[in-house]
Amino acid sequence: MTSVPPIIVWFRDDLRLSDHPALHAAANAGVPVICLYVHDEESPALKPPSARPPGGAARWWLAQSLRSLQASLGVIGAPLVLRKGPAASVIGKFAREANARAVFWNEIAQAPHQAVVREVEAVLARDGIGSQKFPGDLLAAPANIRNKEGRCLRVFTPFWRRLQMLGDPPKPLPAPGKLSGAPNLASDTLESWHLEPVAPDWAAGLRDTWNPGEASAQARLAAFLENGVAGYAGERDRPDRDGTSNLSPHLRFGEISPRQIWHAARFAAADRPPLSGDIDKFLSELGWREFCRHLLFDVPDLSKRNLQPSFDAFPWRHDPGALRAWQRAGTGYPIVDAGMRELWHSGVMHNRVRMVVASFLVKHLLIDWRCGEQWFWDTLVDADAGSNPANWQWVAGSGADAAPYFRVFNPILQGQKFDPDGAYVRRWVPELALLPAGLIHQPWTATPLELAGAGVELGNTYPTPIVDHRAGRERALAAYTRIRNASMTSV
Ligand SMILES: Cc1cc2nc3c(=O)[nH]c(=O)nc-3n(C[C@H](O)[C@H](O)[C@H](O)COP(=O)(O)OP(=O)(O)OC[C@H]3O[C@@H](n4cnc5c(N)ncnc54)[C@H](O)[C@@H]3O)c2cc1C
Repeated sequence: MTSVPPIIVWFRDDLRLSDHPALHAAANAGVPVICLYVHDEESPALKPPSARPPGGAARWWLAQSLRSLQASLGVIGAPLVLRKGPAASVIGKFAREANARAVFWNEIAQAPHQAVVREVEAVLARDGIGSQKFPGDLLAAPANIRNKEGRCLRVFTPFWRRLQMLGDPPKPLPAPGKLSGAPNLASDTLESWHLEPVAPDWAAGLRDTWNPGEASAQARLAAFLENGVAGYAGERDRPDRDGTSNLSPHLRFGEISPRQIWHAARFAAADRPPLSGDIDKFLSELGWREFCRHLLFDVPDLSKRNLQPSFDAFPWRHDPGALRAWQRAGTGYPIVDAGMRELWHSGVMHNRVRMVVASFLVKHLLIDWRCGEQWFWDTLVDADAGSNPANWQWVAGSGADAAPYFRVFNPILQGQKFDPDGAYVRRWVPELALLPAGLIHQPWTATPLELAGAGVELGNTYPTPIVDHRAGRERALAAYTRIRNASMTSV
């Protein structure tokens, strides 16, 4: 315990040192700083039905990210203390133990986290310990972008316009220099939280693909703005190319902040004006993240409820076999199966392919978008409480600013258009690698000789399609027509 009462900084989805308003304020207060992370699986607000614990892939990421944060905080003299349990009682007890004067944290604009914060504030106030919250992980607070009824905007383009009209967000804050921490505070070990898979250890692909942590996030952003952003507006749709930033899991865990990205991108555009079109497109994608988060703020049950109630009557099929085939990359549509393999191996999937696989599940298989959303929640390292359900609802047609339900992605044409040489499919479905580009997205159209030449035995080395594209499309449109007619007669 220190004789000068310290400030505790409570880390959550902000696992970084730079542009961390709570840490910055604590470091400038001239008192010892204690950094705390609470692994909270017990606060009622963070449990179903209000919220979901992170899925397996996200838990793996969290462990790596905390390790990285521990190392960087150790270097500046304020080792990270790890504690487990319901945040209010853990923080209350810890603050008394540390003789703290106050607890600081960054806000998370999500109802379950706000409910936990209210409990923490009550416990601290009861014990006469101060608390202070700082702006969180958004470019603009939800309160700053509202319609006339005081609700969040449901259409992206006006939302994005309003966000831009607010001007640049505040400049990012620097990381603190040396801190005076507090000695001898007991900490859990990360291993005791069992965040990483052991038997079986399925995380080899994640380890091969990612390097979680703030330094890696910053390096990725710098490399993307230096070498990757030129041509982004077109390349971002090509899963066979490395045409996007790959920042989403770093953003999800707050290893980098949106305003750091915003300002770095604006600086790059000012420095190299020919890139400004690509950079504007990149920033508008960051705008989609913001849009999804604002939507979640207004609709906390976004992963459970159709935003358009007419979809409550949608005749979803209960077909566990088809769902399993989709999850295990056995649909017989190469672009879909390649995406599902990429997801399983690396914990992410290219955005274009996310749209194709989601559309396939919801439309060709007529399986409820919530089943796909939950699978993504378990398997994505960037699984996000806002972006995941908002995008699933967008694809399903039930969401905000959604793609019309009758627009059914054709998985063959999508493959041919966005993976024209078949390089993406060859990478993730190597059993088809020897098929020529003209056949790789529809192997069932190959002659027996062509299949034999490529070593493919349909139904044996690679599945035949589990649903015929045209029949699946017609079935989906018929189902949609039923709910549309039903909602028109009820008007
Ligand atoms: C069905 C479906 C589910 C999705 N689930 C998630 C999810 O759980 N978490 C998640 O972060 N993204 C999700 N996305 C959005 C998108 O696929 C990923 O953000 C993107 O693939 C991440 O790659 P990147 O970082 O290279 O993106 P870039 O193209 O480099 O974009 C920069 C950043 O903008 C944001 N962004 C880009 N596209 C979107 C979008 N459509 N919606 C919201 N934010 C976006 C991300 O934060 C991304 O890191 C989903 C999309 C679909 C169609």
